Amino acid sequence: MMQHPFFNNKEILVIDQSPKNKNDRTWCFWEQQSGVFEEIVHHRWNQIDFFSDSFSARFDLAPYQYKMIRSIDFYNYVLQKANQKPNIHFKKTTVKAVVNDNENKTASVWADEEIYTADYVFNSITLKEHGLNTGKKSNNYYHLLQHFKGWLIETPSNFFDERIATFMDFRVSQQHGTTFFYMLPVAPDKALVEYTLFTENLLEQQEYDTSLKQYINEYLKHENYTITEQEFGIIPMTNSPFSKGEGRIVNIGTAGGQTKASSGFTFRFIQKHSDAIVNKLVNEKDPHKAASFTQQRFNLYDSVLLNILQNRKMGGDKIFAELFKKNPPQRVLKFLDNETNFSEELKIMGSVPTAIFFPAAINELLK
Ligand SMILES: Cc1cc2nc3c(=O)[nH]c(=O)nc-3n(C[C@H](O)[C@H](O)[C@H](O)COP(=O)(O)OP(=O)(O)OC[C@H]3O[C@@H](n4cnc5c(N)ncnc54)[C@H](O)[C@@H]3O)c2cc1C
Repeated sequence: MMQHPFFNNKEILVIDQSPKNKNDRTWCFWEQQSGVFEEIVHHRWNQIDFFSDSFSARFDLAPYQYKMIRSIDFYNYVLQKANQKPNIHFKKTTVKAVVNDNENKTASVWADEEIYTADYVFNSITLKEHGLNTGKKSNNYYHLLQHFKGWLIETPSNFFDERIATFMDFRVSQQHGTTFFYMLPVAPDKALVEYTLFTENLLEQQEYDTSLKQYINEYLKHENYTITEQEFGIIPMTNSPFSKGEGRIVNIGTAGGQTKASSGFTFRFIQKHSDAIVNKLVNEKDPHKAASFTQQRFNLYDSVLLNILQNRKMGGDKIFAELFKKNPPQRVLKFLDNETNFSEELKIMGSVPTAIFFPAAINELLK
């Protein structure tokens, strides 16, 4: 909205309980061209490694680049741009509820001691008690968690090849479910190593640490390193529908269903959704209609994959190995971005075992 002149005469209030002054996450995503946040891309890779017990390879990604943005750079960049706009205001407070008013075509944010009313509220908070929540737990849907712990490590001498990212390394125990590491070198002596699981339950904190230590010792063969930063995250992986909001409340971000159910990737989906919302508003159309037409097809693919993962019909390590073995990486990335056409999707489908995927697909279609 900051970038479009249409909003210059609209008053925009951003409410957040956090001052957004911590590097609390690192976003990775791929794209073919320069993005809106190109200036703050912390590191980028043209090549990725994929490892599993059955298939390993190094891939050139062109025309894609795998990019990393540190959240602190993102917050500073956005806040600094917003501060230059007299029509954008900030309020640091806690939101208790968001209420739609159909009659007046407005929505209100109930914050600590104050109520703010606007033409639209774009909500990225999962307020369970007000139904603005993320898919409620139900037996009809799959509910996995993507949970991960990452360490930014520094070695005393140069050790990493900063041109190549390890996208997924499945050569680790799969006893809890789909489990992999990724390793993103940002300098010859610095890398983010992240332990990621797609499972129903979280682990004890010390289990993440033990696994990280083990991986660094075993695969990176390095005992001499310092941990300079840590991150921990949980992302919902569910096909349970997220509320899109109602009336003048438009849910965005993870709360608005922008997390891809079968991979947890969210960052680029949020950017695309925001773009589409702005487009609708500028053209005086309903921002709820910003969802893409192809979404339903990809929802089905996500459900099929969740069905297989949650019921342990085939391990994620084997599924991703088949995908990367039988497709160019560009097609896999495009598919994971929900951007493939049907003929490309047929090729993706042809690369996974029909005996497992076909019954799961029928099962999901019948639902
Ligand atoms: C550690 C981590 C790493 C991730 N890495 C990736 C990645 O590499 N690639 C990718 O695609 N996705 C990644 N994700 C997933 C996703 O991109 C992020 O979670 C992203 O930040 C989601 O954006 P959002 O706007 O939905 O939520 P958030 O960024 O969490 O924003 C929600 C905001 O709401 C505020 N808030 C919450 N409750 C209240 C309240 N009651 N009152 C006022 N304010 C409130 C919070 O302070 C926060 O600022 C990651 C997530 C985490 C947690």
